[in-house]
Amino acid sequence: MDGVLVWESQALPGAGELIEQWKSRGQRFLVLTNNSMFTPRDLSARLHQAGIQVPEDLIWTSALATARFLQTQRPGGRAYVIGESGLTTALHEAGYILTDIDPDYVVLGETRYYSFEAITKAIRLVLGGARLIATNPDATGPSAEGPVPSTGAIGALISKATGFEPYWVGKPNPMMFRLAMSKVGAHSETTGMIGDRMNTDVIAGIEAGVHTVLVRTGISDDAEIAKYPFRPNEILDSVRDLLDQ
Ligand SMILES: [Mg+2]
Repeated sequence: MDGVLVWESQALPGAGELIEQWKSRGQRFLVLTNNSMFTPRDLSARLHQAGIQVPEDLIWTSALATARFLQTQRPGGRAYVIGESGLTTALHEAGYILTDIDPDYVVLGETRYYSFEAITKAIRLVLGGARLIATNPDATGPSAEGPVPSTGAIGALISKATGFEPYWVGKPNPMMFRLAMSKVGAHSETTGMIGDRMNTDVIAGIEAGVHTVLVRTGISDDAEIAKYPFRPNEILDSVRDLLDQ
């Protein structure tokens, strides 16, 4: 989503047109984000503000992937959550009970309201045997004023305090793509991934066995691409290059 379709709430070149072209042809697709703060409905509204019309059921977040993962690992489990509605709603809908009493998991997600009290509780629950899961390993996220600490940074704090590393569900874990493909019944041999980051999107796409396309509208330029020991299948200036004329 970010760096491919939108950048700081503005549509990127060709984004709205490409989505419309796919819809008119019945091309199956999902819009993915590692951000676990928002529900698909919130994100659909955010895209709508930018002039891009994506129904909420075609949006896949690291929060949904985490909820799906936990549902398959331990159906009807209990979780203590540090996060916002994107994550709490996803876990509720996956049949989870959200509680700080004897949870199976401590689940970390993106929030702008990290509290010392909640982090302390999470640390004590993990030390007491709750398993540590995090929606995404990003250390920082973007804001208009500059970088803000993200799930990866809080995960590191809890990790340092407990000695337990979280299991990170979002990109670069290819499970994010595998769970997305399973949601729409897609197969890796006939699926493509369009992303803007080498160290999350492209590596996860390669490991999930899909065709990988990097666009230069996000954070990667040629110097960034050259740093990595792997390459995407295609490098494009923007998603506009994917439009049929
Ligand atoms: Mg991105």
